[in-house]
Amino acid sequence: MGVASKKRASLHTLGCRLNQSETLLIQQSLKEKGYEIVPFGEKADLGIINTCTVTNLADSKCRQTIRQFIRTNPEAYTAVVGCYSQMGAKEISEIGGVDLIIGNQQKMDVLDFIGQEKNERPLIVRERISNEDFSVNFVGDSLVGQRANLKIQDGCSFICSFCIIPFARGASRSRDLENLVDEAKAKVNQGIRELVITGVNIGTYQSGADDLLVVLDRLNGIEGIDRIRISSIEPTTIPQELFAFMNDPNHALLPFFHIPLQSGCDKILREMRRRYTIQEYLEFLHLAHASVPDLYVGSDIMVGFPGETEEEFLETCNVFLDNPFDFCHVFSYSERKGTVAARRDDQVPIEERQRRSAYLRRLSSKKRHDFYSEYLGKTVRVLFENPKPDIWPAYTDNYIRVIVSKDQVGEENLANRCGLVRLNRLAADFVEGELVEMLD
Ligand code: SF4
Repeated sequence: MGVASKKRASLHTLGCRLNQSETLLIQQSLKEKGYEIVPFGEKADLGIINTCTVTNLADSKCRQTIRQFIRTNPEAYTAVVGCYSQMGAKEISEIGGVDLIIGNQQKMDVLDFIGQEKNERPLIVRERISNEDFSVNFVGDSLVGQRANLKIQDGCSFICSFCIIPFARGASRSRDLENLVDEAKAKVNQGIRELVITGVNIGTYQSGADDLLVVLDRLNGIEGIDRIRISSIEPTTIPQELFAFMNDPNHALLPFFHIPLQSGCDKILREMRRRYTIQEYLEFLHLAHASVPDLYVGSDIMVGFPGETEEEFLETCNVFLDNPFDFCHVFSYSERKGTVAARRDDQVPIEERQRRSAYLRRLSSKKRHDFYSEYLGKTVRVLFENPKPDIWPAYTDNYIRVIVSKDQVGEENLANRCGLVRLNRLAADFVEGELVEMLD
């Protein structure tokens, strides 16, 4: 069955924000080649599944998704790309109906490998990941109307004991500065107002003499850019100069950090092979808060790491509660074959991991609630998103989720515009606000 004549393609992403942004880039190049993009689950002639291999469970979800696509589309050309392709090509090749398996090195060139006919056996393209800098040749669709990811870096050289990413994505390498600035300019010209800086370990960005500060300065110089938000950034890699950028009214960098803590216990941090102690982390956290008014800090915390006792878990809860964290994503530790942690024989029972995770999630909701409460009665700047049936959703600069009722606004179109909103009432995970005035 040929694919060139039909040109209906369907894409699906598993895993992280970086995968999402890479899928959007692939999607854009498919459109440029004349493909119609249809939702995953509908009939298509070409399927591209961008996979994740962060845990054994992620692998099994990938296999499920691939099978599901092939069941619905037995005649479609099926390409599997990304981290699981890099690490688990053999397992994927055992799924009947897969035509192409591409690891991370050639993933962005996937279209060059797609054939006209289904293959008897999958073609596997999986090279060692090069440690060269990279550039990207096309500009992806934005994720939503006003915000877009901008990938500046890939890979990681830190090798935490629970993490397979350094093997799946290779060592840290940085995108050429001019190349990423070109993409940013193109996105701003498309109407994007907020760029979210993404990568696996973005604080390690280094392209020649240019570091993250240079990237942010160059992006800030782009005519029309309103907001720059840094996505997750590793502790120990965050330059303190960012505080000044966040405080500068002429700099678009928002007062927002997402800094993975992982554990509040030094023993566990050592076993995770993280590169900081609790004291070092907290010193930075307090300094950041003292330096940047209205700063939001989110974090990632992993519970149930092998050998984690109840006391050590409670230590983590207390560090989270007693310090200025505003939210955390809670991850239950999940074994990943090939990592040091997965080989340990003191794994925490799964039900216990789930119990700890549910407990910490409740604490996290409380912290977010407390953070939102501090802003009740205040008037703050927001960027409005595309409308939902009765509301205009928006985020403040420091990441408070806000909604404004359409009843209050009337017919005016607020999408992709900035406005001042008074925050009036706390709901479960957002704040109801009242429009004071539009700023543009
Ligand atoms: S910093 Fe650690 S957890 Fe993050 S990608 Fe690198 S090895 Fe994995």
